[in-house]
Amino acid sequence: MDVLIVEDDDAMASALDAAVVSAGHMASRVARGADALLEHRRFEVILLDLGLPDMDGLDVLRKLRQVTTVPILILTARDDERSVVLGLRSGADDYLVKPVKLVELLARIEAVTRRAGRSKDIRQRNIVLGELQVDVERRVAAIGPQVLPLTATEFDLLALLASHAGSVVTREQILDALWGDAFLASSRSLDVHLTGLRAKLKMPGFIINIRGVGYRVEADSA
Ligand code: CA
Repeated sequence: MDVLIVEDDDAMASALDAAVVSAGHMASRVARGADALLEHRRFEVILLDLGLPDMDGLDVLRKLRQVTTVPILILTARDDERSVVLGLRSGADDYLVKPVKLVELLARIEAVTRRAGRSKDIRQRNIVLGELQVDVERRVAAIGPQVLPLTATEFDLLALLASHAGSVVTREQILDALWGDAFLASSRSLDVHLTGLRAKLKMPGFIINIRGVGYRVEADSA
């Protein structure tokens, strides 16, 4: 895989480069947002630092999203939840907190590229994650032969999370997708539906809570 590293900190960029190459991928580095916009086309994954010298990384992200669906992982400083949420809402597939752990970097690269491959099948009527099957067209979810007795909202929630398996879905994205608006009143009811869904799935640890950001279903955890 060809990975573009957009990072102005030379030591950080070198470490990322070495990690990516050690996993058998190819890596290229640029330090400026403008160069990322110029050179993104030949890459299959982009690692994007948000603090760049020439422009705001979030602006780079938004500009990239106007022209490409390439998986983009944002790199943020520790505890910068606001940037993470803004980045995910602006079209990033996932995020990594610095200092980036090698194992996590590689796992996230694998996950977002798998998801990108799946979503190329635009219809995606049937999502399969291990034992779990979500038939989006018939609105039926099952674990093995056993159909889950989900409410309409629980089904929508599961379908949304499962279709983004491997990536974080923010609370705002869920509220927006299920209720048409990320208005405050729905936030608590999301918790209720989520609790109901988890109880019926009986798959502890399947829906991972990403504190302050949203939720993630692992692509290969089911
Ligand atoms: Ca930086």
